[in-house]
Parts: sequence; structure tokens; C-alpha cells
Amino acid sequence: MRTPLVDVHAHLARPEVFNRARELIRDAVENNVRIIVVSVQNENELKNGLILRREHSSIIYLSLGQELSDFTIHTYEKFSKIIPKLVSSRDVVAIGEIGLDYSKVRDNILRNIARAIFEKWVELAEKLNLPVIVHSHKAYSDVLSILEKYSIKKAILHAYSGGIELARKAVDMGFYFSIPPSVMHSKQKQRLVQTVPLEHMLLESDTPELGPVFGQESKPSHVRIVAEKIAEIKGIDAEDVAYVTTRNFEILFNLRVMD
Ligand SMILES: [Zn+2]
Repeated sequence: MRTPLVDVHAHLARPEVFNRARELIRDAVENNVRIIVVSVQNENELKNGLILRREHSSIIYLSLGQELSDFTIHTYEKFSKIIPKLVSSRDVVAIGEIGLDYSKVRDNILRNIARAIFEKWVELAEKLNLPVIVHSHKAYSDVLSILEKYSIKKAILHAYSGGIELARKAVDMGFYFSIPPSVMHSKQKQRLVQTVPLEHMLLESDTPELGPVFGQESKPSHVRIVAEKIAEIKGIDAEDVAYVTTRNFEILFNLRVMD
């Protein structure tokens, strides 16, 4: 593939990945990945993410969010104070990952807290006009209605695990789907790729989650096999998948990737 690729979602700042992040970035660049958006969800990850950003300023950008297991307002309060500066320096280019996971959070009081925190972040994304990268599991109707409530135009549903009907609704709302390496084995992800138009798709590795082989880790260079798999499913050229997904990223993030 000649067209440069983008990995829109990777956890390279997590302590267990950070120590080999440089190796992973080098491997990605060798596979024609030109940009990696690193998700940071706590203060330690922000520190690590900024180190990677300083070292690889044309490749690494950050998205800023909060862990879904963090039911406090502290992270939001800290990050919302510093985010305007990080946005103007282009260190942070998106909000995320944030979201709702009802398969992990069963208690109603905790779900209410999670929704309130999610809404704060969504409101911030709207205010700063940033794309929002959303994780959800068993909570897509709540996620979509909150995004609608704040008139969000630029949303990426990462590693979408919901049904086809809600996926169609999200496409109608103008949202994007980032497809992870697990599309190699997941029938649900393959059906998603069949359903969603290429104009609403991005590539992601979700490093180190959702590898191409069940139970194995992923890495940013895997976006290349994701592009090839999407091409196979849709019966089109992999070069077209690379071009359209990278173009989608350029429009959504207002960043130039292709020469
Ligand atoms: Zn993730």
C-alpha cells in the first residue's frame, strides 16, 4: 500500500506498553503508518503520551479521556483545566477514549455516575470542537442519545460491538467506526464492515487489545491487515481503503496526512 495509513486509537502510553512503544512506532512506520493517535486516560498516561509526542511529533498525537473504571470527577476536572493549552499546541487532537460499558457496570447508581461523567466529556468535546472517541458495550442507545443531546457531529465509535440497526443509525447521524484487528476473526466486526460505508470508516489497532488472533496482542502496524481485510470483505482494492480511511481522518481531525 502506497497511501499512508492512520491508527486512530492505540494505548501506547499504558505502563505495560510504554516500555516498548518506540519499537512499536518503528514497526508501524516501516508498514507505512504515518499517524498514531495515542489514547491517554489518566495523569501517568498523559506524562508518557507527551514523552512519545515530543520524540515523534509528526507521528504521535494524543486523545484525552478517562478510564471507564474511574467513577470520580477528579480526572475530568484536572484534564479540562489543561486541555485548552494542549489543544492549541496540537498535542491533543481528540477527546477519548470515554464511554459507557453496561456489561461491566451493572449497578444503577454507578451507571448514573458513569453517564454524568460521560456527558461532561461530551460537552467539553462540543465546546472545543474536537472529535470524540467512544467506547461502549451494551450501552449504544444511551451513547447515541447523549451524543445527539450535545449536537456532536464528529464521533468515532471505536471497536463497535453493538447491533446492525444501531450501527445504521450512527451512520445516519454522520458518525464514524474505527475497525480493529479483531476483524480478522470476529464475525460481528465483519458484518459491521459489510454494513458501514467506507466513507464512515477509520482504522485502529487498539494496542494492545483486540489482536488479529483471538487472545493475542495487537500493534499499530496491524492497521495494514485491517485495511486488507476491509478490502476483501467489501470486494474493493486495499489501496482505496487506505486512501478513503486516511482521507476520513484528515477531514475529521483537520490534519494533513497525505502529500
Ligand atoms: Zn481502547
